[in-house]
Order: sequence, then C-alpha cells, then structure tokens
Amino acid sequence: MLSVVYHPIYSDFPLPDGHRYPLQKYQLLKAYIDEHALPVVSHLPKPLHPDALTAIHDPDYVNALITGTLPLVKMRRIGFPWSAALLQRSLTSLGGTVLTVDKAIEEGVAIHLTGGYHHAHYDFGSGFCLFNDLVLAADHALKSEDVDKVLIVDCDVHQGDGTATLAADRDDIVTFSVHCEKNFPSRKPDSDIDLPLERRTNSDTYLDAFVPTLELAIAQHQPDMIIYDAGVDIHEEDELGYLSVSQQGIAERDMAVFHACKRHHLPVAAVIGGGYRTEQTALVPLHAELIHSALAVFYPHLSEKPNNE
Ligand SMILES: [Zn+2]
Repeated sequence: MLSVVYHPIYSDFPLPDGHRYPLQKYQLLKAYIDEHALPVVSHLPKPLHPDALTAIHDPDYVNALITGTLPLVKMRRIGFPWSAALLQRSLTSLGGTVLTVDKAIEEGVAIHLTGGYHHAHYDFGSGFCLFNDLVLAADHALKSEDVDKVLIVDCDVHQGDGTATLAADRDDIVTFSVHCEKNFPSRKPDSDIDLPLERRTNSDTYLDAFVPTLELAIAQHQPDMIIYDAGVDIHEEDELGYLSVSQQGIAERDMAVFHACKRHHLPVAAVIGGGYRTEQTALVPLHAELIHSALAVFYPHLSEKPNNE
C-alpha cells in the first residue's frame, strides 16, 4: 500500500473570511482518498520540535514566530494572521514532510497531503510559507546512511525562491524549479537549475521542456533521493498561476517524475504544493493525480483509477 501522510489540523486554523488560502482542500483530498478506497495507508505526523528548525532557519526568526512576537509587517509578508493554531499547524506539517521523507526512504515512495513551503527564507517567510519544509526535510534525509545528495524538484507554478537561497551554499541539496516566468515572487534568486516558462505555456510545451531537464538534472547531479513539489497551480484554471496546463498534463508530469525515480532507483517524497481555486472541490481531482500516478508507477497491481470524474 502507498504511504500517505495527513493530519486533520491541515484544514483547521483560523483565517479571515475570503482569505485566498485553500484551507479546505487538504481534508477534501483526504475524503476523496477515503471515498474511493484508494489502496493507501495513512500516517499521522507529530509536530516538529521548534529547536529542529534552527538547522536551516535563523533562531531569532524561529523564536519570534513561536512566541507570536514577529512584527506585523513580517506577518503580512507571510500572509496569515498569527495564531497558536497556525503555529501548531505549521509545525505539524513540517513534521509531516519529514515523516514523508522517512517513509520514502523505507518504501521507495510516499506522499504528503500538504507541504511545499518554498517561499520561506532563512530569516523571513512569504507567500503563505513560515518555514521551509522542503529544505528541512532534505537536511533530515541527509542524515540517512543511504543519502548523500537530495534533488528538490519544484513544479509549483511559483519559483522556489526560499529553497534556492537556503540551499545556495550546499552541494548536498540540488534545487530545480520549473515555474511561470512572470509570476510571484518578483525577485527570483538562482536555483541550481531554473526552467522559467512563458505565461500560457500549454501541456505539450510544458512537458517537452520539463521532462528532458529532469533527466538531465538526475544525470548531471546523481542524487540519492528526490523531494518532489507537485503543485497544481500550473493548471489552466488556477487563480494564481498563469500557465495553461490541463489535468491530463498534470497527470503526465506526475507520471514522468515517478517513472524517472523508479528507473533510477531514487526514493521519492512528494508534497502536493500549491493550487488555488475559490471552488476548492475543483482542486481535488488535480491533486489526486499525484496519488493515482504514484499508485500506477509503484503499485500497478493495486492501481485502478476511478473513472467517474
Ligand atoms: Zn504556488
């Protein structure tokens, strides 16, 4: 069975009415998995201890967020009002990405039903990201005997600026971001590999650019594991992305990543990443492609995609 990591707290922290963050999509995705009786085993993460955050973040920044003393202007850059529940949710989701990495190393693949906080930098957060789970989990993976180099493949439509800066001086974390060229963040520090795409790039053009670059990244950097941010805000109807990739294109992207990992014997920890629609139920089939693809590639004997969508 495919390991997925999920906690009900992912959809449970206070937000002002009309807030852009798709708070409900996490529980909607879990409900979809349960309703379709997909062959997964669900793991409940524990909140990460705040001390663990200083492996990659400024201790003063960590302390200010934990104690609720971060200046309002810095909270505004993150985009959430501070609350104890928000902190607990963040620490639990960080524990979740770390657990997903552990499961992936054990089992070859695992999926986290949240994660992808790639706009969190060393001493500030932005774009709904407090702490950078991708770099933190990569740093954790490197403590494993079998992992000397991690490749972070960031397919969220927004460039992974925080990930790029946090891993800039590290040879053991390689960063690859494929994103919309004219979109948030306006300043895009260099990843090891950046693949900027024009607005309205369609599925075929996306896949023709992305798949060979992924193969090249693996060949060139020889990672021992991949952390995959499978953001679906590349979708044509996403409200914060400006690409024109279809649901089928998302499925093909996810399949391409998993096939590459399997072919190269690379464990893969995947997080669902971004995806923004006022009607949050519309996001569920898009994020579910990640689960279906993982099942099809790694558990083909268990896999049969429901055909009623
Ligand atoms: Zn995004």
